[in-house]
Amino acid sequence: MNGALICVIEDEEVIAGAVAARLRAEGFSVEVAHDGHAGVALCERVRPDLVVLDLMLPGLDGLEVCRRVQRDRPVPVLMLTARGEESDLLVGLAVGADDYMTKPFSPRELVARVRALLRRVERRPAPPGDALRLGGLEIDPAARLVRLDGDVVHLTPTEFDLLALLAARPGAVFSREQLLADVWGWRDGSGQRTVDSHVRGLRRKLGSDLVRTVHGVGYALEAPA
Ligand code: CA
Repeated sequence: MNGALICVIEDEEVIAGAVAARLRAEGFSVEVAHDGHAGVALCERVRPDLVVLDLMLPGLDGLEVCRRVQRDRPVPVLMLTARGEESDLLVGLAVGADDYMTKPFSPRELVARVRALLRRVERRPAPPGDALRLGGLEIDPAARLVRLDGDVVHLTPTEFDLLALLAARPGAVFSREQLLADVWGWRDGSGQRTVDSHVRGLRRKLGSDLVRTVHGVGYALEAPA
């Protein structure tokens, strides 16, 4: 994990500088961009292991940057937002951010979130075994690929992990706390809306009936017919 390359895309130079300095002090390699277009170009050039991405950026905003950096290759994205941007933030999670922090945040907390995200990615190497088929849905853990009725569906890394976990036990109900612990590595009970917005992403891409809400409990996967 140390030595991982992180791109910080943030127009407030004081914040960008502080984040970069802290990450470098923790042993990470860091590249910084101060606007959206430069950020996308930077990510295409250096292919980072993780992106720390401000939501409000000049040029391209963080949502569009997130879409573009995820287009060719899944990469974990930690989004930074200011208070009052929560509605944009939900869109951010829908377009593929894996986690978010609201400013002001402590550099120590940021490093903890970065490490948690990188651990999740490191854990991702393919579990052995064949593709899982549930009706028209096919989940290939080795290729991290999902097909629905034969067509490839592009999921974000987090959406894939969430789907793979739910699909391992179709029909079983998973609580939000359980999903946060197993998919995100969060064990403090925070971030339940994060689960909801990633479930919305799965429903949007794979059909609204796929993931069933079990009121007061959590979510379960319905095997498609
Ligand atoms: Ca900004």
